[in-house]
Amino acid sequence: MNKHYYSLNDYLQKTFGEKVYKLSVDLGLTCPNRDGSLDTRGCIFCLAGSSHFAACEGSISERIARAKALVEKKTKAERFIAYFQSFTNTYAPIEYLKSVFYEVIAREDIVALSIATRPDCLPEEVLSLLGELNAIKPVWVELGLQTSNEKSAEYIRRCYKSSVYTEAVEKLKSLGINVITHIILGLPNETLGDMLASVDFAVDAGTDGIKLQLLHILRGTDLYDDYINGKFSALTLEEYVDILCECIERLPESIVVHRITGDAPKAHLAAPLWSADKKTVLNTINREMSLRGIRQGKKAR
Ligand code: SF4
Repeated sequence: MNKHYYSLNDYLQKTFGEKVYKLSVDLGLTCPNRDGSLDTRGCIFCLAGSSHFAACEGSISERIARAKALVEKKTKAERFIAYFQSFTNTYAPIEYLKSVFYEVIAREDIVALSIATRPDCLPEEVLSLLGELNAIKPVWVELGLQTSNEKSAEYIRRCYKSSVYTEAVEKLKSLGINVITHIILGLPNETLGDMLASVDFAVDAGTDGIKLQLLHILRGTDLYDDYINGKFSALTLEEYVDILCECIERLPESIVVHRITGDAPKAHLAAPLWSADKKTVLNTINREMSLRGIRQGKKAR
């Protein structure tokens, strides 16, 4: 059990009686920030990757088999969470979403679906589908809030108001769906107060889980251009640990912490380069949390 926060592993153990692993299933979808519905450039930090195309080759069961083969190198696990992570996984015709999600949820080796999407991509027909699926097996919906600060949201080209997130969480919760919120730590010009306000905002909205994600600056993004032009600096590891500890102490004990840092594609990572050594980062975070006596909920409002 994690001494400092309510970790995803602890939650999985409590919910499923064992650690279940995620299988990434790429549906090859796009998002309204890229296809021209809202913008064509994408969020300022988001890199449209070429691996997307390779990952969505073959049928859904072939994609799951490939993901299982990768996981099976590390574990003998037999039960998994199907993780629809890339781009906006409810941004497709409803008949397609129905066929894919029903096919996957019917599998014996799948215990839950985890679906990443945008809060402005949850029309009534999608919500009703998610509600039906959630009656079969648990459905988690991951929402990329990133920040509750409207000025920062405009800068990152999120293209929806924070109130859209609040409304989406309310609708998902009314269906009994587990909501996980992504928040980026280290956005340009954000203060510690801004980041804690984003955490509070997600908690007040009713999120069940949180992913705290370090801002990665990737070559090929507009964020990288701003970084190179000196418009902001990347966080140091020390700064990141300080911010993270404050966020963890601010979170109520019931919120599951799904992530405390994040993985960037190393070939594209420009900064912070310390984040490429994940083992050292996690060891540093754990050591600092122990030294400082960090405990989730200690400073919850
Ligand atoms: S971060 Fe998500 S919403 Fe933004 S451009 Fe990338 S896929 Fe689209």
